[in-house]
Amino acid sequence: SLILGIESSCDETAAALVTSDRRILAHRLAGQEAEHRPYGGVVPEIAARAHVEILPALVEDVLREADVALGEVDAIAATAGPGLIGGVMVGLVTAKGLALACGKPLIALNHLEGHALSPMLSQPSLAFPYLLLLVSGGHCQLLFVEGVGRYRRLATTIDDAAGEAFDKSAKLLGLGFPGGPAVERAAAEGDAQAVPLPRPLVGSEEPHFSFAGLKSAVLRARDSGRYGPEDIVASFQQAVVDCLVDRTRRALERSEGATALVVAGGVAANQAIRAALTDLAAVYGLPFVAPPLWLCTDNAAMIAWAGALRFEAGLTDGLDAPARARWPLDPTAEKARGAGV
Ligand code: ATP
Ligand code: MG
Ligand code: FE
Repeated sequence: SLILGIESSCDETAAALVTSDRRILAHRLAGQEAEHRPYGGVVPEIAARAHVEILPALVEDVLREADVALGEVDAIAATAGPGLIGGVMVGLVTAKGLALACGKPLIALNHLEGHALSPMLSQPSLAFPYLLLLVSGGHCQLLFVEGVGRYRRLATTIDDAAGEAFDKSAKLLGLGFPGGPAVERAAAEGDAQAVPLPRPLVGSEEPHFSFAGLKSAVLRARDSGRYGPEDIVASFQQAVVDCLVDRTRRALERSEGATALVVAGGVAANQAIRAALTDLAAVYGLPFVAPPLWLCTDNAAMIAWAGALRFEAGLTDGLDAPARARWPLDPTAEKARGAGV
């Protein structure tokens, strides 16, 4: 099948055409860094307006580039949440209009499912079930991925997401926005042993995460005046790596039958994290799978791909599908532990 995918849940506007046999016929992405940079973070209203202005042209671009008519598409997939609700509505309403126009089904996708299945697009040998470390701007979770639509959440963060920790630490040190890539670049110039920082929750029984204390420690290190910003971020990045590895190890011990250790989400673009997880997987005799960097951060190819898998499974949605600001991949875990954990 051939799926048109649309992504607009944060500050990336994107469209892509992907087939169920993993061919990416076209993909386009328009970032909005320049619009948000003066504010040091994503401004929801500005993001929603930008999606309105850019998205129609991106959809036209991918169709033209792939030389595909809208009527040749089998379904239209769009992120329906979680994310900034104004932006999500722009993408979802656009998809509904296109679906109505060409008489093809809509697939209202969970953005996290897009991240969760993205490693399969670039790695054909990856099979269910796998243990997924999902590390992004808004989430930090360990998920046992059993199949399309079947996600068991083993752990989540009790405060900040991993990407949020990168972004906040970058802001504290004046490294600019977006923070993750800036931290990674600056960390390469610093000494990861220079600043003693905590490893929140390392060694604890449940494989949950916590990053708020780490961010506060970065603030204290900065205000002490004893360390340069490169040493602080290098030490910060090492602390994040240590936390991710320890928590993932704990989850691996509970992941009997997993065929691979997989990482996805924007923070999965970080080379120190990829290297550490490669070593961890080797200890357990598992292959380590990570998407190429452009597939880690938000994009529409992962949305079209997840849409293709859902379409093949007969999972389409009505035109009344709602846009959702919050939408857990594993609602039972959310209920069992209460909001936030
Ligand atoms: P979510 O997917 O949870 O809704 P999001 O869509 O905003 O959130 P992504 O686009 O998946 O998040 O990832 C963006 C995050 O990834 C940002 O927090 C960014 O700082 C972080 N990030 C990007 N590149 C790197 C990197 N090289 N190292 C560390 N973090 C990075
Ligand atoms: Mg972004
Ligand atoms: Fe994302």
